[in-house]
Amino acid sequence: MVLILFISFVNLINSSLGLPAMFSDSASENEIQSYDFPFVDRAGWNARTPSKKNPLTTPVPYVVIHHSYTPPACRTGCECKEAMRQMQNFHMDDRGWWDIGYNFGVGSDGVAYEGRGWTTLGAHALHFNSVSIGICLIGDWRYEVPPADQIKTAQALIASGVEQGFIQSDYKLVGHRQVRDTECPGDALFNEIKKWKHYSEYPSSAKDLLNLPILSDKVKDVMKGNSTYD
Ligand SMILES: [Zn+2]
Repeated sequence: MVLILFISFVNLINSSLGLPAMFSDSASENEIQSYDFPFVDRAGWNARTPSKKNPLTTPVPYVVIHHSYTPPACRTGCECKEAMRQMQNFHMDDRGWWDIGYNFGVGSDGVAYEGRGWTTLGAHALHFNSVSIGICLIGDWRYEVPPADQIKTAQALIASGVEQGFIQSDYKLVGHRQVRDTECPGDALFNEIKKWKHYSEYPSSAKDLLNLPILSDKVKDVMKGNSTYD
């Protein structure tokens, strides 16, 4: 009891100072999630309300890494929040999606930005959204790798997803190009993620998806052109 009061007190002080809470308190209605890396939630970047949401079944077995290509790399909180808004506007207004497609964005400011979050189905990797968390490293990473802080935060975000039970502990990490015909996440970033923990060479291309037991028959029917998503 004393500990709980202490934690509440620390969180109260932290929140009054605008600092992240040190402890999570899932019993509270205002669930406070603690992270040991800089994190900005949707309200923090002024996200629009999604037009609709579908739940994501967790823990997911895959993490998919993306680059944004555009917007380009953002280096300050101000730029990165603007980049998140730009991506959300593009995905909702031009693509007609329900929200920003990615579960999370990570900026060159070393901050993770909440997109759809851990428990909402993403729209980042066609046919693969239901089994993965999609993380976009904001920037064009065809020729250069993201700064060390951006990489470190992306990795810390994944570790936190495992710790919280949203990502399987034996997850596989892939680049977007391994599940879709795209150059994403750029050659330089793709070579970089091959060095990350849990990187998996398989699937190596979208052709392998039909052979993945983890994908449902419904998804495979859509891939074969026999059906469509809701
Ligand atoms: Zn991508």
